Amino acid sequence: MADTIIKVDLSQSPYQNDMVHNRWHPDIPMVAWVKPGDEFIVETYDWTGGFIKNNDSADDVRDINLTIVHFLSGPIGVKGAEPGDLLVVDILDIGAKKDSEWGFNGFFSKNNGGGFLTEHYPHAQKSIWDFSGMFTRSRHVPGVKFPGLIHPGLIGCLPDPKLLKTWNDREIPFIDSQPDRIPPLGNKPFAETAHLGALKGEKKAKAAAEAARTVPPREHGGNCDIKDLSRGSRVYFPVYVPGGGLSMGDLHFSQGDGEITFCGAIEMAGWLHLRVEVLKDGVAKYGIKNPIFKPSPIKPRYDDYLIFEGISVDEQGKQHYLDVHVAYRQACLNAIEYLKKFGYSGAQAYSILGTAPVEGHISGVVDIPNACATLWLPTAIFDFDINPSSAGPSRHIDGSVQMPISPDI
Ligand code: ZN
Repeated sequence: MADTIIKVDLSQSPYQNDMVHNRWHPDIPMVAWVKPGDEFIVETYDWTGGFIKNNDSADDVRDINLTIVHFLSGPIGVKGAEPGDLLVVDILDIGAKKDSEWGFNGFFSKNNGGGFLTEHYPHAQKSIWDFSGMFTRSRHVPGVKFPGLIHPGLIGCLPDPKLLKTWNDREIPFIDSQPDRIPPLGNKPFAETAHLGALKGEKKAKAAAEAARTVPPREHGGNCDIKDLSRGSRVYFPVYVPGGGLSMGDLHFSQGDGEITFCGAIEMAGWLHLRVEVLKDGVAKYGIKNPIFKPSPIKPRYDDYLIFEGISVDEQGKQHYLDVHVAYRQACLNAIEYLKKFGYSGAQAYSILGTAPVEGHISGVVDIPNACATLWLPTAIFDFDINPSSAGPSRHIDGSVQMPISPDI
């Protein structure tokens, strides 16, 4: 049995757990040391540290202070790992915590976080998903059931001081270029809610003022939200500090490509069973700038999809040049309009796209002026036939069940 080297108690605030942190900084102390070849288990909070509750109100999604996220377990030191090495991480298994077999999905208010379709869904909404072994259903989104493709949304190694400075030097002026934008262009360091594990006192205050927020993916990996980083996959992370300092969290029971709902996929607390190795000088040997990974040998099997196309012409009919973001948004909006014909609210359809094993593909980026993105919706996740037919769509979802909504006050 692999040892559990990081434990979390879901009834305790993550701020009370010194094996947890919510910023990236080279001075965060290692919480444990392992050797290459070791297997071990790490428990994690959900990304909000338990702020979002299993209930029928979206008030928590509306009211959350987003400067507290993400609560990560670590950093873990690996003996012998040096800057320039690659840390090889095998994700041997992942699961939900036994005392917490549920997850949440939501949309943040446009005024507090927003999301991919925030102009269309500007209010806080939430759906709760219950797990039955490997499957999930939601009492707020009827008519769908799918197996989990469980993965950490966020995993990576600590930055060194130089890399941290690079992040701050490029992100802070960028955010300041549109200071009044809602939502903002990014998230600057914010000391008040920083939790740097066992780092305390003056050292903590100094680090907290410059520690990077955990929201974006960066060179070290971080919040990549890649649904295929599931159990059985192997990741190669660049090492920047002695020991590497591997941290992780933001576990997802399932997620559609893009994690378009932002709060977030099906978010859960859980555990990971890991094994680590070190590839000496792997960064230079393989020309690595960002992590690379190998997929899992197992995956939910879907043979049939309904595929929605989107092009880089926005909702107002404005032309954009090869803009994949605009094109994917159109593909998602097209899928939502289609699902509404079966009785779903737009919010429920949006939630399905954020949670189910939906695939997003960049299909064309050269055919000027339009990029083409596609959204692949597995037909078998629905309790009914969603294919087009001469009889037309029938309303399988009667509207009696809706997702909780909490407009701003
Ligand atoms: Zn997440």
